[in-house]
Amino acid sequence: MAREAKLRSRRVKPRADANLLTLKRNSAIERYPFDDISTRLKVNVSPRAKRLALRLCPKTRTMNLVVPPRASMKSAYHFALENEEWIKEKIRELPRPVRLRDGAIIPVFGRDRRIVVLYNENLKYTDILLKKDEIIVMTNKENPSARIKRFLIEQTRARITELAEQKCAALGRDYKSITIRDTVSRWGSCSSDGRLSFSWRLVFAPKNVLDYVVAHECSHLIHMDHSQRFWDLCESISRDFDGGIDWMRENAHTLMRFNA
Ligand SMILES: [Zn+2]
Repeated sequence: MAREAKLRSRRVKPRADANLLTLKRNSAIERYPFDDISTRLKVNVSPRAKRLALRLCPKTRTMNLVVPPRASMKSAYHFALENEEWIKEKIRELPRPVRLRDGAIIPVFGRDRRIVVLYNENLKYTDILLKKDEIIVMTNKENPSARIKRFLIEQTRARITELAEQKCAALGRDYKSITIRDTVSRWGSCSSDGRLSFSWRLVFAPKNVLDYVVAHECSHLIHMDHSQRFWDLCESISRDFDGGIDWMRENAHTLMRFNA
């Protein structure tokens, strides 16, 4: 929208007004039937936004309507209304969510495995085994989903650590730490002081893809950019460089469908 120049020059209001502004904004949102466009549409007034935008969030299965602080709610509503069909289509296209519970079939390190929950109230704790085709969950919990997620996070950590050690040995460089996160926007990152972090959902990606993502972040230990030298290095320590890149480009968003 063509309101950018005006927005950029606006001064920030003093903090005392913040609550009042929020109140006004909420009542402005209520004046328009956003829910009629889609119940998955969420209005999000963002101080940093420069323009009206629609952003799909696969994790929460919502379409966020990003509204700059100074844009009118009326213009935001009409913007959403103009894009109603597109919004509905994008929501429809989202892969069905998969919950970590009994009977669910989830790919773990590239192999589909069925979650089998064996409930026994007399058990002292939950024990989980990763089998060839199954994930056996022996538990005293009626809903062990969070526990299964924790198990998968530990599996991811173990596998990624193993891969990172291989890659770093090949590079002659050490990483400082590995953190496994529940991030929405990034699959991996590498800080300038050598801290690597990865999304736990990579556990659902094929093996060659996980290998590529780890190779990518480890290569940043040497080149902090995406220069040709970086890509050459990354390719040299990836098992399937092209396959990994292609898969991530086309399918990474589908990893978001898994949830505890
Ligand atoms: Zn990168």
